[in-house]
Amino acid sequence: MSAVDRVINEYQETGSLSKADVEFLLALEDEKDLQKLFALANKVRERFVGSEVHLRGIIEFSNYCSRACLYCGISRYNRHLSRYRMDVEEILQAAKEAVGMGFKTIVLQSGEDPFYSTSTITRLVSEIKAMDVAVTLSVGERRREDYAAWKEAGADRYLLKFETSDPDLYRRLRPGCSMAQRLQCLTYLKDLDYEVGSGIMVGLPGQTLSSMADDILLMRKLQLSMVGIGPFIPHPATPLASAQAGTASLTLKVLAVTRLMLPWANLPSTTALGSVDREGRREGLLAGANVLMLNVTPLKYRRLYEIYPAKAEVEDDPTALKAAAVELVTRLGRRVSSGYGEGRKAVGMES
Ligand code: SAM
Repeated sequence: MSAVDRVINEYQETGSLSKADVEFLLALEDEKDLQKLFALANKVRERFVGSEVHLRGIIEFSNYCSRACLYCGISRYNRHLSRYRMDVEEILQAAKEAVGMGFKTIVLQSGEDPFYSTSTITRLVSEIKAMDVAVTLSVGERRREDYAAWKEAGADRYLLKFETSDPDLYRRLRPGCSMAQRLQCLTYLKDLDYEVGSGIMVGLPGQTLSSMADDILLMRKLQLSMVGIGPFIPHPATPLASAQAGTASLTLKVLAVTRLMLPWANLPSTTALGSVDREGRREGLLAGANVLMLNVTPLKYRRLYEIYPAKAEVEDDPTALKAAAVELVTRLGRRVSSGYGEGRKAVGMES
């Protein structure tokens, strides 16, 4: 029996993988071995979360950010970027249009922008909830009281990627931030009964297969309901401008192994994956993913939310994006979900 077959058998018997096995799978290069990994992840996805694909409409409502992350194009240090903030009415209008197009989840994302007070976001959440959709927030690290107020107003999910579980790398890439604080926020969110999403970038300079294996083990330990995994893409106006980008192929491996380790999770086939490889989103859906996040930000702002360059879909209007997504999903013999696509809430943190 080949080494990959042995690891797959072991997984099928135990439903888990050791760190060494995760690392082994992330290191696969042989095309036949990779096809075995992706086919297994696809089978596990089908068995646990079925064939439906959930479409989320994301509104990137502000590109102001108080952070100085070395990888990010909207870092406060990028002085070349025109900054925008959508006002409440614009955000609600964008949400209304997305709901009118059939989206059942609205994701509100921004840089860490304290301009939007707790009560402003509370109002946004409750008015969007009244449109009969699920609401996901992704506005960074805030106080527990803020998360509690938004949950009370009806927010269902929160997305806060831990980016990397390597403490040295984290410290270098996110100056002034602490991993302990990020993880504390994830604990608050879980305690408040959010469906909690987190995730990483793949191919960060200095990241190793061992640290990515640790990332996947941490995602499992946190019992995340959703996990976003995208390649790192260098932005020219950041200190990492000349770094290598993460590859689609490594991203797909991380995605597939994450599906094995978190079989119930909602896993998007990310825009970043679609940005490094034209077929990336399709390949992601075949390697364990069951979610597509489509950009419903008004076109006049879309290009300015430039966390990385050459972002896919900056020019396409939401109707065209949705039609293309439906076409892709149908071509794969899958179905676009008509439900809210809730993820399973974990009972608690595993020790
Ligand atoms: N402020 C919120 C936060 O901190 O979670 C959300 C906005 S943040 C810009 C959204 C995500 O963009 C981050 O979690 C990070 O993974 C991703 N991102 C930023 N720069 C990137 C890059 N150069 N390549 C790929 N992804 C990037």
